[in-house]
This record gives sequence, C-alpha cells and structure tokens, in this order.
Amino acid sequence: MGSFQDGRWMLKAASQLAEHYRSKWESSQPLCIWPPGYQQAIERWQRLYQRARGRGWNGAARHCLRQLLSANVQLAVAVNAGQERLLVEERRQQQTIPSERMVVDELRSLASEFEQVAYDRQSQELVAVTEPITLDEVDLGPFEIRLQLNGIDKLCYRIVALDNRSARGSSRVSHSHVQDETLCEGDGHHAIAVALEEGRLGDFFLLVRQILRTYNSASAYVYLSDWDNVTCTDCGDSVVPSESSGCDRCEETLCESCCCLCDHCDATLCNQCREGCLGCDDRFCTNCLSACADCEEPCCPECLFEGRCPDCHTSYEESHEIDEDEVAPTEEPESPSTDQNETPCPTDIQPLCLGEAAVPA
Ligand SMILES: [Zn+2]
Ligand SMILES: [Zn+2]
Ligand SMILES: [Zn+2]
Ligand SMILES: [Zn+2]
Ligand SMILES: [Zn+2]
Repeated sequence: MGSFQDGRWMLKAASQLAEHYRSKWESSQPLCIWPPGYQQAIERWQRLYQRARGRGWNGAARHCLRQLLSANVQLAVAVNAGQERLLVEERRQQQTIPSERMVVDELRSLASEFEQVAYDRQSQELVAVTEPITLDEVDLGPFEIRLQLNGIDKLCYRIVALDNRSARGSSRVSHSHVQDETLCEGDGHHAIAVALEEGRLGDFFLLVRQILRTYNSASAYVYLSDWDNVTCTDCGDSVVPSESSGCDRCEETLCESCCCLCDHCDATLCNQCREGCLGCDDRFCTNCLSACADCEEPCCPECLFEGRCPDCHTSYEESHEIDEDEVAPTEEPESPSTDQNETPCPTDIQPLCLGEAAVPA
C-alpha cells in the first residue's frame, strides 16, 4: 500500500478520480425524450374524431377520443420526466467538473485530518484510517474508510475494522452501524452522495468518520449494550456470556432456557445433540443411548433389558413362552413301544395295574 507521503500514488489516485468525473459528465443521458411520433398521432386522431363527430358516428368518435386521451397522457409523462432531468441538470451545470488539481487539493487536506491516508494499489482504493473509536465504553478499534476509485457510474466505499472487535454474537457487525463492511448512513445518506458526486472527497471522508464516531441506538445493527453478548444457537436470543453455556458435544452456545442435561451422565446438550429414549421418553446424549438389538431405536441404560428396548423385550419374552409351550408336547412321548429294551419304570406301570384291578371281573 503506497503511503501518501509518496507523491506518485497521490497523483495516480487523483488522475483516476478526475477520469471518473470526466467520463460521468460525458456519458450523461439525453435530457428530453418525447414519445416517438406523438405529434402526428395527436393530429391524426383529432382529425378522425372531428370527422366521425360530424357524421354522427358515435362509436367511432368515442374510440378516436380515447386514443387522443392516451396520447396526451404519454406526452404528459414524458414532459414530467424531462422536467426532472432538466432541474437536476441545472444544478449540475453550476458545478465545475472536479479537475485533477482540485482532487489533489482534496486529498492533501485529508492527510491532516486522519491518522493515516494511503492508496491501495492492488484494490485501487483510497484508504483513510480513523483513530480508535470508543462508543458507550465499547472499544471498537480503528477503522479504514476505503473508497474504490475504479467505479464507473458511482464511487463506492466500504468500512474495514482493523482490530476486528466485532459483536460477539455477529461476526458480520464490526460497528453498531457497519454490517458486512457497509455503513448504514442514516440521515447522512444524501450529504455523502452529494459530496462524492461533486468531488468533495475531504467532506466525504469526514462525513463517514462522523457517522462512525456517533452511536444511534435506533438504527444500530447490534446495540452497544449487547456488544459482548453471545447468541444462543437454539433460540437465537442474545445473552450475557455469564448466563450462557456450551453444548458438551458440539460446543455451540446455549442460553439458560435452551440448555438441557443428559438424564444419565449430566452432560450439557443443545437440541441437536440430544435424543429421546424410546422407553421412557427422557432425553440423553448419544453416548448414553444404545440401539435396541431388535428395532435399533435408541434406548437409555435404565430401559435397556438384555440389549432390547422395553417393547422388544416384552415381545421377545412372549414369543419365548409360546415356543416353550409348543416344544413341550413333542418331547414327552417316550412311549415304551419305541424303547422296548428299556425296563419300564415301576411308577409308569403302576397306574395300569391299578386300573386293571379296578375293573370288576
Ligand atoms: Zn436459547
Ligand atoms: Zn450440541
Ligand atoms: Zn449422557
Ligand atoms: Zn429410557
Ligand atoms: Zn426395540
């Protein structure tokens, strides 16, 4: 980045700016644009209307009159637009096109107003650095006001924070009135635009610095009172760091009301990192949940029984009991007819004997 003490950069910046103003003045739009053929159209519809009226052709006369009205409205719109352009041009005509000499003077005046003024050759930006800015006891650090010199229609600028003390809850906000390097100009919008249009670069930089030095809570992206607050990932609320905690799994920030503990290991969890147990419906961290061996649904240690969730365990038990009932009868018939070599057990025979004895002879 060429500093301003190096006169060559200043001349380079001044010639680029002067070229911008010259080409902008030359490429001006035409001032008065009339609807094409409006005069012939008005004369023709007027002639046709009078003829139709004279012959008593009421329908045709009405049509001609409508055409006349519409041609007149188009002309009125064009006249109004032309009037506006002429008034703007009248103001511009009184201004002188900023010359290279004038731009150099403007740039020189900046050096005494700002901590540092420089030209960034790579980005083709004129850079003025402010003093460290403190608003409502919040230290925001110094800012660079960067004016792009290669803009065609319009000169654009951006605000870059040097210390990057952006709001804790939003890294895009580097100042209560700067988001994504864009300044919310508020009431200063018109003054800034005119200063740039007229080549009053000194005024432009001072106006922008003045907005950076001022705090307006009504148009703040982030309130200074909330500057060091953190944002809860779950509900988006802004909270004081002392009232927040981090999720033990993903480390996201959580407010007190979104913070939830694992019912088994007491780990702090965000909404994403906790899951319900199929059995008891309580919430746990993924480490404390196991998949049921049958349905693969998450289950907490309390509800898991022999690797199964309560439902799967119950159905397993039931099916097991049924199996036992079905298997029992097939095992029982150890009938003597199949094992004839074996000596019958006396207890097996006894009832038969008793039965025979019971039958009367
Ligand atoms: Zn929350
Ligand atoms: Zn988490
Ligand atoms: Zn846990
Ligand atoms: Zn459970
Ligand atoms: Zn299951």
